Amino acid sequence: MPSRTRTARYARRRQRRMAGVAHDLTAGQWAALVESWGGCAYCGSTAPGLQKDCLLPISRGGRYTLANVVPACRSCNASKCNTEVTTWLRRKRLDERAFLVRQAEVARALASA
Ligand SMILES: [Zn+2]
Repeated sequence: MPSRTRTARYARRRQRRMAGVAHDLTAGQWAALVESWGGCAYCGSTAPGLQKDCLLPISRGGRYTLANVVPACRSCNASKCNTEVTTWLRRKRLDERAFLVRQAEVARALASA
């Protein structure tokens, strides 16, 4: 019969590993994202202080990963808030298709770097 302690320890370790996978954006990847986009991913603003914006908000199950994060200026980030990205782009009448294509290209390029 396995000891309860060992089982509990294994469960905790697994939980930590899953948490690590869930939010795996590194500082280096973030720097590369900012460099690739060259500014706010939505409006192109190059104002300092770009923030990590999750395409799928954390509150809706999104995570800080290379494929889910883009740099956003304060204004866009505050406006988008917890809205799912395509819904927000449509509301702002931004070019949803161009954004999604570019976002996929940047994420793919950085993932294979
Ligand atoms: Zn912006």
